[in-house]
Amino acid sequence: TTLALNDPGLLETRAYVNGVWIEGGARFAVQDPATGDLIAEVADLGAADTAAAIDAAHAAGPGWAALTGKERGAILRRWHDLMIQNADDLATILTAEMGKPWAEARGEILYGASFLEWFAEEAKRVYGETIPGHQRDKRIVVLKQPVGVVGSITPWNFPNAMIARKVAPALAVGCTFVARPAELTPLSALAMAVLAERAGVPAGVFNVIPSQDAAGVGAELCANPKVAKITFTGSTRVGRLLMQQCAPTIKKMSLELGGNAPFIVFDDADLDAAVDGAMIAKFRNNGQTCVCANRIYVQARVYDAFADKLAAKAAQLRVGNGFDTGVTTGPLINSAAVSKVEAHIADALAGGAEVVLGGTRAPLGGTFFAPTVLRDVTRDMLVCREETFGPLAALVRFESEDEVIDMANDSEFGLAAYFYSRDLARVWRMAEALESGMVGVNTGLISTEVAPFGGIKQSGLGREGSRHGIEDYLELKYLCLGGI
Ligand code: ADP
Repeated sequence: TTLALNDPGLLETRAYVNGVWIEGGARFAVQDPATGDLIAEVADLGAADTAAAIDAAHAAGPGWAALTGKERGAILRRWHDLMIQNADDLATILTAEMGKPWAEARGEILYGASFLEWFAEEAKRVYGETIPGHQRDKRIVVLKQPVGVVGSITPWNFPNAMIARKVAPALAVGCTFVARPAELTPLSALAMAVLAERAGVPAGVFNVIPSQDAAGVGAELCANPKVAKITFTGSTRVGRLLMQQCAPTIKKMSLELGGNAPFIVFDDADLDAAVDGAMIAKFRNNGQTCVCANRIYVQARVYDAFADKLAAKAAQLRVGNGFDTGVTTGPLINSAAVSKVEAHIADALAGGAEVVLGGTRAPLGGTFFAPTVLRDVTRDMLVCREETFGPLAALVRFESEDEVIDMANDSEFGLAAYFYSRDLARVWRMAEALESGMVGVNTGLISTEVAPFGGIKQSGLGREGSRHGIEDYLELKYLCLGGI
């Protein structure tokens, strides 16, 4: 396929290392999940290329860190502006390789760019500290310095934004960066590199290593002593593995891992608002986000009404190719994703759940799946234990606040949680009781660059976005000045 781009130069298939575009020895295919068509063949780099990129990033570090925050911020701001100017093309590349509807892809580009804007501004505000001395002749000063070379591993579900929200704070404070995008979606990352180069990001500061060999590149990033920090978004399984691989060199880590978000509807809630929130929290990106509602708990008195209203809304979703107008719901990323949704449905039905809507693959075939609502789901079913990552809304009935807190917290994950209630005291109690890094109260959409995104428990370490997000890329150095 040829993509309709205003600037065909954005469809880059070479790797980007030390400011040079590299063909690489081998190539791998990137396909459109909606059609199976070949989009491009991309340079397939390996561990040795990764080591070279790390060397380049290491060499570029001191020069980049020596710039003022204002100077680095100006470059990031230009990168942001170029992403906005080219948002249509970037969205086209993103939809082609990932499948989400074009308007949603364009929204992701704006979301990704917002991190560049935010951290371009924050670059000027990396404040240290003075501490009153502990002895009469002593003075204490705390500096904040960039951690150094950052290795990044990111997933396919947000091919632009997951990289943007890591690279923006890293570069803002003076770190340099080696990105390994998901093998399913390298084109969005390479398009970002094209724009980084145009924005004036110096050679070696931002490198992109497309590779089919996730394990090989990952092992090099984790083991190489020149890498100071790994930042990863993906599954808890791989996050655990990376932590193990980082242990020998005691690397810093930021981990955004799996979620299993509870979405709770109390009987005092604005039910229509709760339905709208559930639609966003569940079906955005076809259920393929780590903050997607996975377990929907509805209080008994409003259970039937909520199930009917949600099914009616979900029936209006239009499944199809993300480039077609009016499509709200693209394909799932691959057949393994379809199998997982099917397994969760089969397990729930075997346990006594009932289909209110969907439940099967969509008539379009491929990896298209019908938006699905199941009722009479119970806490022991697979869909309540594991992240589905697909368009399956599983409705669990509950009676009391204590019962739902117990069910919601009965998970090794703790990324996002949502609840709907209009009782102020209950809002506070729930907000404090839920074991998660983020809580949406009367909203199903919580992601923004101005707030700290991240999880607790086995959902990860660290925060992305907000003034806190920059701290993940900084070291403290304490100076003790004596003899005064
Ligand atoms: P997802 O289910 O979202 O694909 P994964 O954790 O499997 O989550 O993948 C997230 C990213 O981690 C992807 O870019 C993937 O290629 C990469 N990855 C998978 N396995 C490894 C590994 N062993 N080492 C490093 N990266 C890996």
